[in-house]
Amino acid sequence: MPCYIERRKDGGTMFLCGDLGPHCAAGECAAVSGYLCDYPVGEGRTCDLPLCASHAYEVAPNIHYCPGHLMLWKEFRDSGGVQHDLGNVVPYKGDKK
Ligand SMILES: [Zn+2]
Ligand SMILES: [Zn+2]
Repeated sequence: MPCYIERRKDGGTMFLCGDLGPHCAAGECAAVSGYLCDYPVGEGRTCDLPLCASHAYEVAPNIHYCPGHLMLWKEFRDSGGVQHDLGNVVPYKGDKK
């Protein structure tokens, strides 16, 4: 039976054992994963790295990235890539107000 280490808000740790799915994949973290990385890796797939609540970085409502992809995404955004990308994704309807 797998065991997990949960960090509590007061700084302590708590052990959990049971079949609770994959561990958080970030670094040395051994917490229960409640999230998957939503970073697109091509062909309609996402990174899917299992992440706990403290390692799943919410970049948009219900979109979570792992620490490594958060860094990539920030670089992308800081270089102006997000606007360019959104321009490609959002269908142009021609009804500018
Ligand atoms: Zn974690
Ligand atoms: Zn990822």
